[in-house]
Amino acid sequence: METIASTPTHCPYCALQCGMNVTPLPQGGVEVTERTDFPVNRGALCGKGRTAAEVLSPAVRLTSPLVRSAGRLVEASWAEALDRIAERFAGTREGYGADALGVFGGGGLTNEKAYALGKFARVVLGTSQIDYNGRFCMSSAAAAGTKAFGLDRGLPFPLADIPRTGCVILVGSNLAETMPPSLRFFTELRENGGTLIVVDPRRTRTAEQADLHLAPRPGTDLALALGLLHLVVAEGRTDEEYIRLRTTGWEEARAAAMAHWPEQVERITGVSVPRLREAVRLFCEPEAAMVLTARGPEQQSKGTDTVGAWINLCLATGRAGRPLSGYGCLTGQGNGQGGREHGQKADQLPGYRKLDDPAARAHVARVWGVAPEALPGPGRSAYELLDALGTDIRALLLMGSNPVVSAPRAAHVEERLRSLDFLAVADVVLSETAELADVVLPVTQWAEETGTTTSLEGRVLLRRRAVAPPPGVRSDLYVLHELAARLGVEKGFPTDPEEVFEELRRASAGGPADYSGISYRRLAEENGVFWPCPAHDTRTETGPAARGDSGFPTDPAGHPTAPPALTGATGGPAVVDDGEDAVLDDLPDDPAQDTGDAVSPVSAAPVVHPGTPRLFLDRFATADGRARFVAVTHRATAEEPDAEYPLLLTTGRVVSQYQSGAQTRRVAELNAAAPGPFVELHPRLAARIGAVEGEPVTVVSRRGRAVAPARITPAIRPDTVFMPFHWPGEGRANTLTNPALDPTSRMPEFKSCAVRVEVVGPG
Ligand code: SF4
Repeated sequence: METIASTPTHCPYCALQCGMNVTPLPQGGVEVTERTDFPVNRGALCGKGRTAAEVLSPAVRLTSPLVRSAGRLVEASWAEALDRIAERFAGTREGYGADALGVFGGGGLTNEKAYALGKFARVVLGTSQIDYNGRFCMSSAAAAGTKAFGLDRGLPFPLADIPRTGCVILVGSNLAETMPPSLRFFTELRENGGTLIVVDPRRTRTAEQADLHLAPRPGTDLALALGLLHLVVAEGRTDEEYIRLRTTGWEEARAAAMAHWPEQVERITGVSVPRLREAVRLFCEPEAAMVLTARGPEQQSKGTDTVGAWINLCLATGRAGRPLSGYGCLTGQGNGQGGREHGQKADQLPGYRKLDDPAARAHVARVWGVAPEALPGPGRSAYELLDALGTDIRALLLMGSNPVVSAPRAAHVEERLRSLDFLAVADVVLSETAELADVVLPVTQWAEETGTTTSLEGRVLLRRRAVAPPPGVRSDLYVLHELAARLGVEKGFPTDPEEVFEELRRASAGGPADYSGISYRRLAEENGVFWPCPAHDTRTETGPAARGDSGFPTDPAGHPTAPPALTGATGGPAVVDDGEDAVLDDLPDDPAQDTGDAVSPVSAAPVVHPGTPRLFLDRFATADGRARFVAVTHRATAEEPDAEYPLLLTTGRVVSQYQSGAQTRRVAELNAAAPGPFVELHPRLAARIGAVEGEPVTVVSRRGRAVAPARITPAIRPDTVFMPFHWPGEGRANTLTNPALDPTSRMPEFKSCAVRVEVVGPG
């Protein structure tokens, strides 16, 4: 039998980006097997990854462009579909101006697609109205991390550090269901004598693994963190030397925390003072400890302050920027990290540069060959953009997202999408959002195309093409290339992903997320490279290049020893200095040039930068190198329970579905395991309202109603109900959720809204 080679690549789904091999089968189709050489999943795959081959099947795919005709979507040629989009976009721009055109991207798009989409919006369409669904994912952690550390990279250390720390507080993450292979790092932590504290209103499968489970009321994580910090201070557990040497703003943050008495925090959160004290003891006693947050504390209308409070806890105890310690965010979507770095966010340019920074604009404009003044300014955030559809925004191009299911107040968003003059959607399947479109474009996905993603660790990875796409399917890069040409921009939108990546390197050079030292060749040879990774390593012998990837130079007290003059000595972006294009000019045009053998780090010749697995060990990425405390205080959720809506709804995921379910609902095994939504209720609540296990109940909020079977369990608080959000239709959880926005990150309040539950009567 003919031997067909396997291609090593990465999972299409979550931000763990597990390594897998894809092998075409002689009889047709492909096989997915786990890779043991990738240090994150180490040979494990969850059910979603294991069954990922099924979403490649033409049986579940879009394989022809569709255009709306007489109210129905009918097959059309690529030329016809692209012509129609270009014509309608040009007409809309002429009639209403460039900002009447909107672009909505996704955290699953590769870095190349995210980069090209941002450039397309700003250079071809000239619109400021671009954002993406990652705004709904980790934007509060990104905002809080940037405030505190001067830089957001989900995890500033590799997952492999987790088993070697002393304690982890995992806040609002059910990773046993969202990214199961990662649980091994926490199991090993406990085997090594460390402890795991899980903060979650539900006793999830992750919480069952914990040494201590704190179950606060939804929306009170901020008060919980303040209560812990209060106790840290009261018990004399602060690290005063660290605070003095490595931080600013402590007095204000300390005063804010001391105003939150533990007894008051107990009343707000429902977590008893003895449990708060136990958490403080477990967190403070080991030499090293971490706080990791996920969507629980982040998807709140005070998400930035909530994450800030957890960061304050890390800073007051001297954890951040220390070996095996610190704060990190567990990003969710497959390319949630890279997707927010390269320009599809409303306020950002590639390289994680700020759109309103003149130097950043000049740098990127130069790479793009346009005048800086030609680049639009910041646009609306994701929900605000969706809310403006049909009024200020008349035509929308949507790539890699399904907001009909995943956006808050989803019925309203659906109605806004329907009100558009024109909607074009590029997707791999006919999602609920694509069903509303005027033109649908069938595009390639993971194993059918080469591209890069950036995992939750900040590790840039090469996803390789392993199989040919079905006939009729083209890449998103082809779509942007063709639309740009039809709209009068003939150059600058290559269809070859490596060519796009080479431009992305130049655009990111010198920025916070500097990819200029990364090439496809390096990614293939090194199994991924952590950013920042400048084109040339300019560090001295005391920098990480000299001490190796895993070294931690410290003084006898355990404090990092790199001299202050070593700006960015962690390889980090410490102070971002474009050097107005000295960096850009210095970047070799030939990617092969920067992959030569590394020489001594003190050599005059440039050497290859090894990438930066660990950030902040020497200094933070702020102007003065110090982390900033941010004084935060507790406030109520945007919608507290009342007589009419006496309960809190919180939403989340289940192990066998992914995000809006557009792909995983089409996989037989996953669909059988998780065929539909449910409403989790505490037995006392169920008894009070007469709900019966498996029988339908209606959950009602101020925005609508959702119906799903009751699942009665003591694993949830009696004042809280839970629904997974993967399904459309009458059980759509996001019909209920509240779009109240965080003032900084513009994150909607997915994690708590006031509801009531009604039992559905017979007939
Ligand atoms: Fe790994 Fe996430 Fe894919 Fe599961 S879905 S195999 S955890 S990358």
